[in-house]
Amino acid sequence: MELSPNHSPLSRRGFAHLAVLGLAAGAGVLGSTPAAAASDGQVYYDRANRLAGQDPVLRAIASALHPDVEFPGELPAPPPTRLFDDLAVLSVGFVHAMALFTYEGIVLFDALRSPQDGRDYIEPGLRELGADPGDIRYIVVTHGHYDHFGAAQYLADRHGARVMMSPADWDLIERTNPDNAPDRDLEIADGQCLTLGNTSIALHHTPGHTSGTVSPIFPVHAGSRRHKAMLWGGSNPPETPGELRDYIESIAAFRWHMRRADVDVELSNHPNDYGLQRIQQLRDDPDGPNPFLLGRARADRYMEVMDLMLRGRLADAQSVQG
Ligand SMILES: [Zn+2]
Ligand SMILES: [Zn+2]
Repeated sequence: MELSPNHSPLSRRGFAHLAVLGLAAGAGVLGSTPAAAASDGQVYYDRANRLAGQDPVLRAIASALHPDVEFPGELPAPPPTRLFDDLAVLSVGFVHAMALFTYEGIVLFDALRSPQDGRDYIEPGLRELGADPGDIRYIVVTHGHYDHFGAAQYLADRHGARVMMSPADWDLIERTNPDNAPDRDLEIADGQCLTLGNTSIALHHTPGHTSGTVSPIFPVHAGSRRHKAMLWGGSNPPETPGELRDYIESIAAFRWHMRRADVDVELSNHPNDYGLQRIQQLRDDPDGPNPFLLGRARADRYMEVMDLMLRGRLADAQSVQG
C-alpha cells in the first residue's frame, strides 16, 4: 500500500485514533486495570497534554505512552527515505530500522522482524537509496525484542556485519528467543562510543522498556549543516514500579546527555512519534523544513512529555499495588 501525499491513511486511522485516546484520557473508561487507577496518574497525563499543546510530535508520544493506548494494527510501509543526507529510514510500517552512512560503511540501528525483512526491506531499501548492503559494518540492536533484531544474523552472515547489544539484552534474547536470536557478538557498554569513518556514535544505556535498552546519539547532516540526533531505543513502559522508576531515571540521564550533545533531532524506532506522517511530509516537500529537526528546546520538551507520562504510569502502578 502506498501512502498517497494528500490522503494519508494514517492520519485518518491509526494516529487519529491514538490522538483521540490521548485527549480522552480523563474519562478513564477504557482502563484495563480493575483498580481504576487512572485517577492517580491523571494529574501527570494532564500536564503532559498541556505541555504537548498542539504539537503533533509531542501529542503523539503522550498518546502512545498513555495506559489506554491501543496500537494500530497493520500500518503501510513507507518507501525507504533519507531523513538527512546521511541517515535513512527502512520501515515495515510499525517498526523502523535506520541506516547511518559514514565514509567507512553503514551503521544500522535495528534490523526489523525477521531474515525475510532483511531480504525484502533492508537490502533492497539500501540499494534503492544508492547504498550497498555489503557496506553494513555494525548493527546496533536497541533492545532484545524480535522486531528489532530479526534480520541481524542474516545481515551478519551475508555481509559480515557485527551485531551489538547490551549484555542484559543479549541475556534476554538467549532466555526468551533462543531460536531466532543472533549469535552473541559485541556488547555495548553504557556511554560507549562507536566510531566508523569520522562519525562517532554515543551509545547510552536507557533501561526501562527492557533492562538493556540502548539509545544512541549521533551526528547527521543536511547540506552544510550538522545536527545531532537521538534515537530512543524502547518506548512501551514496563509494569512494575521498580522498572518504571528505572525508566524515569533513564529519561533524566538521557536528557542530560541530549543537552550536552546539543541534540536537535528526535527519532524513534516505532511510529509513536508522528514519524510516518513526518516521513510523508518530507517526501512531499523535500525542500521544506525538515520535520525531524525539532530544535534543542522542542527535543527537550519531547523528553519532558515522556517523563510526565511515565510519572503518571508510576503513580497508577503504585496505586494498584496499594
Ligand atoms: Zn520492544
Ligand atoms: Zn519494538
